[in-house]
Amino acid sequence: MAPAVNLLRPRSPSSFGWLTSTPTVPTATSTAVRMPNVISAPETSVHRFVLGNGLRVIVEPDKRNRLVSVALTVGVGSRTDSASTRGMAHLVEHLMFPRCKESSGRGHLRNVESSGGICDGVTHRDHTSYYSVIGSDQLESLLFWEAGRLASFAVDQDMLDSELAIVGEEIRIANVASHGGYPWTTAASALFGKENHAGGDHGIIEHLDRITPAAAEAFHRRWYTPNNLVLSIVGDVTAARVESAVNAAFGALSGPARDEPRRNKVIIAASSHVRHHAPRFAGTGVAIGLATPDVRTVPHAYVAHAVLTEVLNSSRIPRLKIKEPRLRSACVYFGFHGEWFNTSVSDLQVTQIVHEPGWLDAETAFDNELAVLSTDGPRPGELTRAVNALLLAHHRQLDSLATRAVAHGRFELLFPYLSGHAAVPQLLAAVSDSNLSTAATSMLVQPRVVVKLNGE
Ligand SMILES: [Zn+2]
Repeated sequence: MAPAVNLLRPRSPSSFGWLTSTPTVPTATSTAVRMPNVISAPETSVHRFVLGNGLRVIVEPDKRNRLVSVALTVGVGSRTDSASTRGMAHLVEHLMFPRCKESSGRGHLRNVESSGGICDGVTHRDHTSYYSVIGSDQLESLLFWEAGRLASFAVDQDMLDSELAIVGEEIRIANVASHGGYPWTTAASALFGKENHAGGDHGIIEHLDRITPAAAEAFHRRWYTPNNLVLSIVGDVTAARVESAVNAAFGALSGPARDEPRRNKVIIAASSHVRHHAPRFAGTGVAIGLATPDVRTVPHAYVAHAVLTEVLNSSRIPRLKIKEPRLRSACVYFGFHGEWFNTSVSDLQVTQIVHEPGWLDAETAFDNELAVLSTDGPRPGELTRAVNALLLAHHRQLDSLATRAVAHGRFELLFPYLSGHAAVPQLLAAVSDSNLSTAATSMLVQPRVVVKLNGE
C-alpha cells in the first residue's frame, strides 16, 4: 500500500534502524514462554515473549501519550517470489487490506480507520511490515482484527482484481520515476542475479495478471505462519496487558513449520558494465553498484561503509562538484533504496551520478576521491561529523510509535545476532579513521557493476 505519508520510508538518503537483541526462540510449549532477558534502555524497557505457536512478541511500554502502535513483521518479501510470479509477496500484502469488503465492515483498513487509527503495509526484499496506530484503549480490538485477517485470509476474484489495479498503478508510477528500474533493479540484477531482482519489490504486471485467488491463498498459507511472524507493540500499554491480549487473540493461530526462504550464496566474481536506455531522461548518468559488506558476518565493516557514505555525501561530493562543473549531481546510497539494516540478504551500495553529456570521466573522478580517502583517510572532523549525522538520523527514525514498532519487528526477524538496540550507537562509535580508509579501498577494488544511463 502507499499512504500519503509513508512512515516506513526514510526521510534522508540513508535510513537508520533500531537494533534489538533477540534471545534464542525456545522449543514450542502450550503456554507463553517469558524470555529471560529484559533489555533496559535509558528511557524504556523492552519485553519479549514467545507464544506456543512460535509467534514472537516484543513490547515497549511508552506512556507519553494514549496511543499504541502494533507492527506485524512477516519473514517473506520480494526475494521469495518465484521467477515467474514476481510481485506475489507485494500482492498478498495488498490482499491483507481487503478494501472491496469495506461496505460490509469486514476490512482491517475500515476497522482501524473507523476507530480513528491509521494502518499500512510495505513489502521489502526479505520481509513485509504492517503497522497500525490507534488509541491505546483499542489494543484488544486491534489485536483481534490483526489475528482475524491472518486466520481468515481468503481471496476472491473481485478482491484480486481490485488490488491488481492498485498494484499495477504503483508499478507504472515506480517505472516512470526510475526510468524502468534505474539504478536499483538494473544494478542488483547485474550484480546479484536477475532471477531475484526483476521487477524490484513491486513486481511485474504480466506476472501478477496470471496469479489466481488460490495461488495467493497458498502463498499466504505457506509464509504467514505464526513462527514466521513477529508482533511488536509500542505505546501506552503494560507488558502484562499485552501478553494477555496477544494470547487471547493469537494463541489459537497455527500453521506449518517455518519455511526457510531461499538463500543462494551470492558470489560476485567480476565487474560488469550495463547500459540502461531511458528515452525520457534528459541527461547522461552513471550508477556504480557495489555489494555492501555482509551485515550478518561483518557488522562493523557494514557500518564503516555507511559512515564512509555519509562522508562522501556531506563533504567529498560537494567538493568534487566545485572542482568539476561537468558533474551535475551525485549521491551515494547505502542499502537498497538508501535504507540500511533493512535486509539480511545481499545488499547494495549505489553511487548515482548525473553529468553533462559527453563527459566520459565521471566514474574516474569519483574513484579519485575514493583513492584520496583510501590513502590519506578522513580530514580532521569528517569522521565525527558523519558519525553524529548518522546518530541523529538513527534517532529520528525512532521518534514515532509506528517506526519504532516496525523497527523492533524488523531487527527481531532479520538481525537476531545483534545484541541490543544500543548496538547502532556502539557500532558507529567504533568506526575509526583507518576503518574509513579500508572501506574506501574496498569500494575501489571490489567487483562492481557500472550502469550507464543514456537518454539520447
Ligand atoms: Zn503496494
